[in-house]
Order: sequence, then structure tokens, then C-alpha cells
Amino acid sequence: MQTKEFKAESKRLLDMMINSIYTHKEIFLREIISNASDAIDKLYFKSLTDTSVGMKKSDFAINIAIDKENRTLTVSDNGIGMTEEDLENNLGTIANSGSFAFKKDNDLGDDVDIIGQFGVGFYSTFMVAKEVTVVTKAFGSEQAYKWTSDGVEGYTIEECDKPDGVGTTITLKLKDDTDDEKYSTYLDQYQIQSLVKKYSDYIRFPIRMEVEHTHYNEEGKEPEVHKAIETLNSMTPIWKKNKSELKDEDYNNFYMEKFGDYEPPVTHIHSKNEGVATYDALLYIPARAPFDYYSKDYEKGLQLYSSGVMIMEKCADLLPDWFSFVKGVVDSEDLSLNISRELLQQDRQLKIIAKNLEKSIKNELEKLLKNDREKYEKFYSVFGLQFKFGIYQSYGAANETLKDLLMFPSSFDGKNVTLKEYVSRMKEDQKEIYYACGETKERIEMLPQLEKIKDKGYEVLYFTQDVDEFAIKVMIN
Ligand code: ADP
Ligand code: MG
Repeated sequence: MQTKEFKAESKRLLDMMINSIYTHKEIFLREIISNASDAIDKLYFKSLTDTSVGMKKSDFAINIAIDKENRTLTVSDNGIGMTEEDLENNLGTIANSGSFAFKKDNDLGDDVDIIGQFGVGFYSTFMVAKEVTVVTKAFGSEQAYKWTSDGVEGYTIEECDKPDGVGTTITLKLKDDTDDEKYSTYLDQYQIQSLVKKYSDYIRFPIRMEVEHTHYNEEGKEPEVHKAIETLNSMTPIWKKNKSELKDEDYNNFYMEKFGDYEPPVTHIHSKNEGVATYDALLYIPARAPFDYYSKDYEKGLQLYSSGVMIMEKCADLLPDWFSFVKGVVDSEDLSLNISRELLQQDRQLKIIAKNLEKSIKNELEKLLKNDREKYEKFYSVFGLQFKFGIYQSYGAANETLKDLLMFPSSFDGKNVTLKEYVSRMKEDQKEIYYACGETKERIEMLPQLEKIKDKGYEVLYFTQDVDEFAIKVMIN
């Protein structure tokens, strides 16, 4: 047995990992589960045409085991496995790892962010483990192999037995706890359960673990501990389901749970797309603005999944600023799991998806305005200001999207009126749109000039927000 050195760029990445900030470390679990799921996908796909695989979909699973005594966390799959050569090529260098763009500059700040946002695959295990062991047997091969590494210098590969057959078992020997970092949290079943829920809930194969339940019977009696194998993930994401299977209540519950809102949303948009871009999206228009919405701290964005695996908590590039209040998830198989933020921003598919989403949000809002005016006006009172900023700040680029969504109070009956409505009831001799600016509706109504225009039978829009006049000027220019 011989120890081989990691390639130079792998070393650098490993270094980066070890120094990554704590909250990012937990994504290692997502990464190994997603690899396990990929491996199962491959063998499952093979099984559809190759009867020698001898497995059906329900046979495939990912198993997690916690061993507190030995401080190990084990994830195993019965997927396609790896040959000796695969081990060498796939785990020996990160160059093969998806489309991870290795950054050449030395700006650790950004690197750390990449880890948090996207993860960097298998190597992320070294953020929490002092030793990683991979035991694997490839489909179609007789011999199993064991790959071991401390993540610092290199790795070893040796022949071994794997009595449970084809697939891969990854064992992480967790690092020792320090004052700042408690790696033993990954030996806690509740923590593992919640991480699977958070990041891997929608993996298509069951993720199982033996879970202990403590029952407290009568007082004074010893509690009983029951153990049971449980599936931790729900397997089908709500956005993958058919609309006909889902009720408003299902949509709303998911929204409130996922985005931590205690009020149901105004409406949702569930769209499935195939063609130039393949993706499923489930978007929500919230009923109320988060407390920091109109501040600099607010971060817009949609949760981004790649084939059921979350790759980004808030992908800002999916939403224009004028729709920054929208919450939701986008799941696309066109995007690679390990894509870096820089590459993602330039990604053609992502741009197409963003354009489509903008259109559907606009259409949904116009529909709401048409069919449920009251609801729309309530929504508009919360988020309408954003549209005006949108028109103003985009120098008119957002005109087409937003012009029919705008509303202003007017002299007609004091109620809100859209520009379309205004124009549709303009007098025949009226050539212009009239507006008057003031702090409040009441103040505007006391303006002497207003009477003159009203006497002609012309309607006057009331501009009570500073941005109103700027926005309209951008629009008519
Ligand atoms: P990526 O998943 O983007 O390819 P990773 O670093 O996560 O990058 O994994 C590197 C490679 O190692 C995978 O592409 C795959 O070939 C192999 N691999 C990792 N885990 C497994 C597994 N559980 N079963 C089979 N192959 C695996
Ligand atoms: Mg991976």
C-alpha cells in the first residue's frame, strides 16, 4: 500500500475548507448525500435496460448511521460504486469535480462564500472529519476497494471486502470538539434529521436512519428507548407534484413553514417548464413585507435547486429588483450542483429562467388586479412602492413590465386608478395625463389649480409619494 499525494489544487481547496466558517460546514452532509443519490441514479438508470442489475426502484436507498462511541458518521448507498480507477480519478483530484471553477486569486473571503453557497463536493467532508474512509464496490466488478485520507497530505487505496455488495460507504471520523466548534453535533440524531430536512428533503430515494425514541411512562419508572429505522426525507418536493394533487392549503402550509411567515401568501405561482429551459418553479407573493424590506439589509432571491438538491439559499439573479418581494423555489436540471456564483451569474439557462419568471410574476399580478381588485390593492399598498422605484431605477427598462401594475389615487372618486383606466375614461379633447403632487390626498384636494382642471371634466392623479413624479417622468420620456 502506498500513500499518494493530492494534486496541488486539491490541497489548496482542502486548506480553504478547513478554514471555512462554522455555519458552512454542515453542508458536507448535503454533498455526500447528493453524491450517493447521483450514484443510485446511475445504477437505477442502468437497471431499466440491463436486467443483470436485478434491482427495482424501491430497492435503492441511502443509509445514515451514527456511532457515538467511535465518533463516526456513516453514509452508505447501493448505487453504482467506484472502481479502483474511479477512486483514483474522482477522489484524488478536484479537477474532475463537476464544474467547480477554481479561483486563482487569493481572496479567501469569496472562496468561503462559495463553500457556503454551493459546496465543493466530496472534499467538504474534511471540514468536519479528521479521517474519511470510502469503501466501494463498482457494479460489474468483483473486487472492493478502500480509500482512506486524513485530508492533509494524501490518500491510500487498498483492496478490501465489502460483504453488503455493490455501492459505496463513506465513514467520517469526526474531528475533536474545540471551544468554538462542536463537531459532535453531527452525532446527534436530531441534528442529522434536521440537516436532511433542510438540504436533502427532496432527494428522490429514501434516506434512512435508525432513530431512537424515548418513552416516559409512569413517574418513577425508567424511560423506555425504542429504536426504529425511519425515512428522514419526504422524497417528493411539492413543486414536483401535479397542480391537481395540491390544494391552496398545501401551498400555503409549505410557504409558511419554508419561509417562516405566519400569514398565508396573497397568491402562488406554480409553473413547470420544458424546452429551452427545463425547470419547476413555485413562487409566492407574500401578504406582508418583512420588517427590513425597505432597508439595505433586505436580500432578495429565490431558493435554487439542481435536480432536487438545494444549491443556493437566495439566488438574487433570479429576481429583478421590482419583484424582490417574491419568495419561492426554482428547481432545474440544467444547472450543475457545483457551479460557482461567478459562473452562475453568466449562465444562459439561469438568465432564461429569470426572464420567464419575471413574465409569470407580471401575469399573475395582472390577473389578480383583474379578478380580485381588493386583494390586489391590499398587496399594492404593501409593495407598490417597489414598482415605482423599479421604473425609476431601471431608467424605464421595466416600463413594459410594470406600467399596468401601477395605481394612483385620483380626483375621479378618490379611489386607486390604473393608468389604463385613466386613459380609457379620458375626455375626447384631453391630450395629457394630469397629476398633482402633495403630501396627502387631502392636501392635494385643497390646491386651487385642481379645481380648474376638474372643471374641464379632466381626471387628476394624486402623487403623494416622492418617487411618483420621478417614475412618471421616466415613463413618458
Ligand atoms: P461531483 O459530485 O460534482 O462530481 P464530488 O466531489 O461531489 O463532485 O464527487 C466527485 C466524484 O466522486 C463524483 O463525480 C463521483 O464520480 C464520485 N463519487 C463520489 N461519491 C460517490 C458515491 N457515493 N458513489 C459513487 N461515486 C461517487
Ligand atoms: Mg457531488
